[in-house]
Amino acid sequence: MRALVTGGAGFLGSHLCRRLLKDGYSVVAMDNLATGNLKNVEGLDELGEFCFVEHDVSRRVEIDGDLDAVFHLASPASPIDYLELPIQTLKVGSLGTHNCLGLAMAKRARFFMASTSEIYGDPLVHPQPESYWGNVNTIGPRGVYDEAKRFSESITMAYHRHHGVDTRIVRIFNTYGPQMRPGDGRVVSNFIVQALQDDPITIYGDGSQTRSFCYVDDLIEGFVRLFEKGGAEPVNIGNPGEFTIRELAEIVISKTNSSSELVFENLPVDDPKQRRPDITRARETLGWEPRIDLDQGLDRTIPYFREVIS
Ligand code: NAD
Ligand code: UDP
Repeated sequence: MRALVTGGAGFLGSHLCRRLLKDGYSVVAMDNLATGNLKNVEGLDELGEFCFVEHDVSRRVEIDGDLDAVFHLASPASPIDYLELPIQTLKVGSLGTHNCLGLAMAKRARFFMASTSEIYGDPLVHPQPESYWGNVNTIGPRGVYDEAKRFSESITMAYHRHHGVDTRIVRIFNTYGPQMRPGDGRVVSNFIVQALQDDPITIYGDGSQTRSFCYVDDLIEGFVRLFEKGGAEPVNIGNPGEFTIRELAEIVISKTNSSSELVFENLPVDDPKQRRPDITRARETLGWEPRIDLDQGLDRTIPYFREVIS
């Protein structure tokens, strides 16, 4: 089996490459390094047949030889990244997804789309099942990411229905773990880095908004099961354990024995107030559920950040 992983030098992409190599795949990672890091793919060639191609997938994508799988993960993912790269984010979600679907069709490969819980926007239904259509502000600053991913889902379903491409869509909920950039800007990495340096912990708003945090190994296991056993319907993959952002800050401070204080900053525009996946579909169709709770996941993540910032 030979797989292309777009966004392969990013946080999730590099974990997926590692897992696929361990499962015996030959892997091509493609990335334009917009938010990724070549360090994430260092040493992967020792695990099996691996190569890295630097390329922007919003431009035509060409790969020599057969492909059995196209995993499309390329996209800025952290709010600070997609707010800084709004046009590139819209392009990779639209043109990039179109190019990758075209490649999958030409190679008769299975296509796997990395979508997001952000397609639910600031959800009015809680927890969020896949049947919920969402509450997205199309013209707000976050719209560049949310609408790009909603378009990605639509074009994936169109290629499935119209061209018969074998497709999967995963709706990923907030995931954390080693290989995140210390400056990534997402909440778990920010809080751990701030706590380890005894810097103020930046809570946006009053910290009462909630998120549900999934450890990366659980997520990647969900990817593999969905890819192998799933169908074309979107599937939520995430950990239903829900925490307020203030609770997360307190847990991180206690785990790092930090003397950091909490500081409260402005809540970003359209920041969702609550988020928790309904994972009934993943449980019933894939036999998947997360195994690593926030406590264990942080214990595996904090040493990574301790090392990279030292
Ligand atoms: P990341 O920023 O670490 O990785 C994204 C990778 O895509 C980077 O290596 C970046 O350089 C690359 N990339 C961006 N634009 C590209 C382009 N035009 N051509 C080629 N490569 C490009 O983020 P991540 O957390 O690893 O996210 C991976 C995917 O998962 C994204 O599609 C994201 O939307 C999705 N996702 C992630 C989460 C999460 O919690 N981590 C949640 C929901 C969805
Ligand atoms: N957040 C925060 N402080 C930070 C970074 C993020 O309070 O330093 C908040 C952010 O406003 C949001 C939540 O944490 O309510 C999760 O943010 P993140 O960027 O990780 O992901 P999102 O789910 O918003 O895409």
